[in-house]
Amino acid sequence: MPHLDERLETILADVTRRNAGEPEFHQAVREVLESLGRVVAKRPEYADEALIERICEPERQIIFRVPWIDDDNKVQINRAFRVQFNSALGPYKGGIRFHPSVNVGIIKFLGFEQTFKNALTGMPIGGAKGGSDFDPKGRSDREIMRFCQSFMTELWRHIGEYTDVPAGDIGVGGREIGYMFGHYKRLTNRYEAGVLTGKGLSYGGSRARKEATGYGNTYFIEAMLATRGQSYDGKRVVVSGSGNVAVYTMEKVQELGGIIVGCSDSNGYVFDENGIDLDLVKEIKEVRRERISEYARAKGTGAHYVCGGSIWDLPCDVAMPSATQNELTGRDARTLVKNGVVAVGEGANMPTTPEAIRIFQEAGILFAPGKAANAGGVATSALEMQQNASRDSWTFEQTEERLAAIMRNIHDTCAETAEEYGAPGDYVLGANIAGFVRVADAMRSLGVI
Ligand code: NDP
Repeated sequence: MPHLDERLETILADVTRRNAGEPEFHQAVREVLESLGRVVAKRPEYADEALIERICEPERQIIFRVPWIDDDNKVQINRAFRVQFNSALGPYKGGIRFHPSVNVGIIKFLGFEQTFKNALTGMPIGGAKGGSDFDPKGRSDREIMRFCQSFMTELWRHIGEYTDVPAGDIGVGGREIGYMFGHYKRLTNRYEAGVLTGKGLSYGGSRARKEATGYGNTYFIEAMLATRGQSYDGKRVVVSGSGNVAVYTMEKVQELGGIIVGCSDSNGYVFDENGIDLDLVKEIKEVRRERISEYARAKGTGAHYVCGGSIWDLPCDVAMPSATQNELTGRDARTLVKNGVVAVGEGANMPTTPEAIRIFQEAGILFAPGKAANAGGVATSALEMQQNASRDSWTFEQTEERLAAIMRNIHDTCAETAEEYGAPGDYVLGANIAGFVRVADAMRSLGVI
């Protein structure tokens, strides 16, 4: 593991002790601290004023019970969280995740990452994350609605257009946001469109929000490839997952001339030597809500389904992990490098383990960290807030143009910051430092907060 200087090592030890049993949070904090040695050497005031310690401590953590009734009339109970991490730059902002693996440590790691990601967008948004250990898989539409309503019955008092603006994440898409917004509206008797983002177009959503995270990651990698005189044209691309981020990553990559050779879900992955048929993936995942194994069944010749296994065994030029945290391991990274990968862009949050990141960086592979590469989703959420505030609605082209410009800007900020701090080409360091400095400087101006 890279060395941390004594001061940062003490901070990490303290974070680990105060947040026991939360390995994902420790991992996320360590990764940022590993980048901050050079900043503290240049700007000792950050250490003297305990800025790093303050940034590692969430401003507020809410844990609540969500009781609901299933279709068999049985009472079910879930646990839910909202961690409001940092509001120095604007109202808290970050998604809601419904997945059985959700616990306070996972939400904390996501909220921590979100704080720097949001800062990188250059938009006035703080960082937060929320979610529940509710498992939406196999639940009926009515059960999903009752769960969302019960979840909002508690959450509504903690959020608001000027306070905290949640959005979707794993297990939370347009359907769930609709149920939550509907219930918020009933509870508050206010049509406060800016309280949630990722809304449907018929009630205040933004065009291109659904596509934004996947498109944004694709733009980021395009800019990264361009630094080496390369493009997507003719490149074989593997995208893990087949949810919101994965689907729209595949769409934009195909548009730019890349060939998608595989995608996955939590049960296994598909390989299609003719290039993935995205219309079929959308039909299976967005309409029928079925497993990705159906793809090979429907497609026949040329398409194979592998149950379990690692999608990163598929030879490719570009890898875009877009499912979940720590899904791409050291072993996977070695395989990808051996197979000639040239660029890796994190569509998901922290999908690459620290060992895997090291392997990519040592091999000189272009590596884009999620807090920069997948920031297009939250940036477009901020554009949705702008449209809601001005009671306006922009065209798809106008919104996508803004998104593309924001992603280019984030890319350049990371690249320039890495250069400035003596590590050209290190996008991890560039993203961590640029995000940190923006949040820390705002906090310094606001007094000891
Ligand atoms: P979705 O729920 O739409 O899709 C998630 C996909 O990942 C599904 O294919 C799912 O498979 C798979 N997956 C989930 N958990 C696991 C797991 N434990 N192991 C293997 N596969 C898994 O979520 P999103 O596409 O919205 O989110 C994907 C990632 O992108 C997350 O890390 C999220 O935090 C991040 N992200 C999302 C943004 C957004 O705008 N939505 C913005 C920025 C980051 P299955 O159906 O089998 O569960």
